[in-house]
Amino acid sequence: MEKLIVITGASSGIGKQLAIDFNERGYKLLLLARRVDLLVNLNLENAICKQLDVTDYENFKLQVDEAEKYFNLKVDLLINNAGIMPLDKIYNLDLKTQHDMIDINIKGVLNGMNIVINDMKERKTGTIINISSVAGRWTGENRAVYNGTKFAVHAISEQSRRELAPFNVRLLTIAPAIVDTNLLDNTSNKEVLNDYLKVKEKINNGLTPKQVSSIIIYAYELPQEISLKEIVLSSTKQAI
Ligand code: NDP
Repeated sequence: MEKLIVITGASSGIGKQLAIDFNERGYKLLLLARRVDLLVNLNLENAICKQLDVTDYENFKLQVDEAEKYFNLKVDLLINNAGIMPLDKIYNLDLKTQHDMIDINIKGVLNGMNIVINDMKERKTGTIINISSVAGRWTGENRAVYNGTKFAVHAISEQSRRELAPFNVRLLTIAPAIVDTNLLDNTSNKEVLNDYLKVKEKINNGLTPKQVSSIIIYAYELPQEISLKEIVLSSTKQAI
């Protein structure tokens, strides 16, 4: 399929599954993450793998420009998926970690949107999918700053969607509850980690990345005239 898709955070979890599934469907891909070796090891055809920290706007733009030239295609879908979730009480979480969350989870999304938005607007087509979370709808223990970042992603996405709608550009916010990935790797507080794992175990580990990916693919492959605006999803056993 002659469409170029950019996925951030494609080295693990949801992003990795999206890379595999979109590749299987024949899309051209630009896969981005800091651990580029993990991207390369996926060994996907028609996928450019580049090292990127999403907080680095210049490199982000360079990688998108080069992929567009290489495939001779403009980006049709950007998935802002990269994110971190170091859990702890606000009084335990050091300021650098808090700032990292703001930089990656919010500014990383803004960087990606800024790179593709005007071109999509001019071409009157394109889709941006921002991976937020149920943490972008409801606050929860140990998540004060993470909640803040995902509330921001929700708000930015919703209003951007309204402003891009007249130009036939879609913006979809995905808000999953627990998904079985490595997201907890950034949580160092063992007690907080164990509490989270207990909840996760009770719901059979939550959604699989494959389940989330299949819903994203469904939404994207709807005709451009149909905009699924927000999808909130969880495993059935998870109440929130
Ligand atoms: P993983 O930890 O498995 O994947 C996170 C990905 O983000 C990795 O590929 C990582 O790559 C990338 N990443 C992190 N920081 C940066 C950065 N600075 N620059 C570029 N890439 C970065 O977690 P998930 O797959 O679960 O997370 C994906 C998204 O889903 C996140 O936005 C998360 O908030 C959201 N989410 C997850 C839920 C869950 O329960 N798992 C629930 C709701 C939302 P690398 O380290 O190689 O850079």
